[in-house]
Amino acid sequence: MKEVVAGVDIGGTNTVSGLVDRDGNVLAVDDLKTTEYPDIKDFISNLAASVNRMLSKDKSLKLLGIGIGAPNANYYRGTIELAPNLTWKGIIPFASLLKEKINVPVVMTNDANAAAMGEMIFGAAKGMKNFIVLTLGTGLGSGIVINGEMVYGHTGFAGELGHSIVVPGGRQCGCGQRGCLETYASATGLVKTVLYLLSDRREESILREIAPSELTSKRIAEAAAERDKLALEAMDLTAEKLASGIVNAVVFSSPEAIFLFGGLAKAGEMLFEPVRKYVDLKIMPIFRGTVKILPSGIPENNAAVLGSAALIWNRESR
Ligand SMILES: [Zn+2]
Repeated sequence: MKEVVAGVDIGGTNTVSGLVDRDGNVLAVDDLKTTEYPDIKDFISNLAASVNRMLSKDKSLKLLGIGIGAPNANYYRGTIELAPNLTWKGIIPFASLLKEKINVPVVMTNDANAAAMGEMIFGAAKGMKNFIVLTLGTGLGSGIVINGEMVYGHTGFAGELGHSIVVPGGRQCGCGQRGCLETYASATGLVKTVLYLLSDRREESILREIAPSELTSKRIAEAAAERDKLALEAMDLTAEKLASGIVNAVVFSSPEAIFLFGGLAKAGEMLFEPVRKYVDLKIMPIFRGTVKILPSGIPENNAAVLGSAALIWNRESR
């Protein structure tokens, strides 16, 4: 028998699942449209069918468990709680519902924690005991590992660095606070910064030729790579805020590395270089030069599936 784990990434629009072996090979993938199943019971049935379909292709496979990354997933309770971007409202006892269909261990956490677990088991954080993964997408998610353990905290929702405050009284955040890190250091935050600069400055910029609704972090990073002054300034302002968030995290937990992951991290050196510069500038001397700022080591196309599967492989390796 060949042992495999199912990794499931539940997103607001799509749910992707895959079978992953101990070495991180993705043996099969399948997907569902999350939005097609407003009734959670229908979704669970179809997810179970999807996992069974992948397993049926090879009779020698033995399923050890199902790891799930989902917005607002609670590691302790196996629930999805009050997720604003999912159609299921309230508190969903997701793990126990799924176990009724497929009786194997089900482990859940949010997508950023799953990304961090993927980095630890299959990626560039192999062998590291203290590191943080920041996912820079629409928002900013974080997975924090201290002394080899994922930090879940008292509630199971620990690690919301995206909602640490870097500008008191700053931009309004969806969470209700002002000046949260993710309102600046995310794909959405970068676009906001550019829109502000376009209205505040007079200078020429290729970004002026793009309709505001078409502006993306990708277009802005491309403009920065072409040395567009306004785009470079926006990247610099974003990096400076991100560095503030990183410095706060470093003085708190002294990680060996911070991994930047997701849409905005694709800007590569246009982002990493100024982030390293500002971290060096802002951080207190005992930590200077102690933390590496690195790109993720997980292949991007299967990152979410690998991260979710790593939740189970991490248990198996103990
Ligand atoms: Zn916030």
